[in-house]
Amino acid sequence: MNAETISSVPVALTIAGSDSGGGAGIQADLRTFAFHCVHGTSAITCVTAQNTLGVARVDAMPVEAVVAQIQAVVEDIGVQAAKTGMLLNQEIISAVAQQVEALQIDNLVVDPVMVSRTGAQLIDDNAVKTLRENLIPKAAIVTPNRYEAQILSGLQINSLDDMGKAAQTIHENLGAKAVLVKGGGMQGNLRGVDVWFDGEKLEILTTRLVESKNTHGTGCTLSAAIAANLAMGNDLWPAVQQAKEYVTTALSYALDIGKGQGPVGHFF
Ligand code: PLP
Repeated sequence: MNAETISSVPVALTIAGSDSGGGAGIQADLRTFAFHCVHGTSAITCVTAQNTLGVARVDAMPVEAVVAQIQAVVEDIGVQAAKTGMLLNQEIISAVAQQVEALQIDNLVVDPVMVSRTGAQLIDDNAVKTLRENLIPKAAIVTPNRYEAQILSGLQINSLDDMGKAAQTIHENLGAKAVLVKGGGMQGNLRGVDVWFDGEKLEILTTRLVESKNTHGTGCTLSAAIAANLAMGNDLWPAVQQAKEYVTTALSYALDIGKGQGPVGHFF
């Protein structure tokens, strides 16, 4: 049998942290890219020791190592889209923003990992400042959860109306081309409802509600699926709609593994 080679394939890059439990971070991103038949590349920013019960330890990569990974990938292979996840500290955020500019990385999805879905702050105030001033303005789309949207907009979010106002404020003040405020952390009928604003259209994205305690990796999977769709050449709004559908299906195939909160599943 002759070997078949494929010479043209969409390529996406994830700049994020490693999750030893395989549920979120780099591991979820690469799995999501693979599902979309997009070649996944990675720049690892930090290594977490975690499982379904929680994070035991986080070690940052040296900033030079993060930069070297991005340069190695982009200068040789080239990427059609990229996403950022957990960037951990101000030095890494600043260096990633510089590389995005210098290497002209297009179709950047920024998942501003700052606060967990339960409300715990994950990065310090200086890192938040650098994220808002240096990285978010370069994003095609930024995907904050409710708490992150509160920090980025300075507004309290308790309703659908508030989510829309926050999306508009983030768009106007921070310069991302589009904003998707995720309702994953909301209560009642706002759970799973996201709000999109791109300077023209304010859209409410609803989906069938999937009841599951196993939701780890939802945010990572959504932003990776948006990046995968952009790498495939889709426009931003259809990319977001496709990605929302993907993450909803991944939730309904979540894995009940470990003693705590299992991850969304990609085997479907
Ligand atoms: N990135 C890493 C490395 C993580 O460990 C986590 C959460 O533990 C996240 C990102 C965010 O995960 P989620 O997709 O559940 O918001």
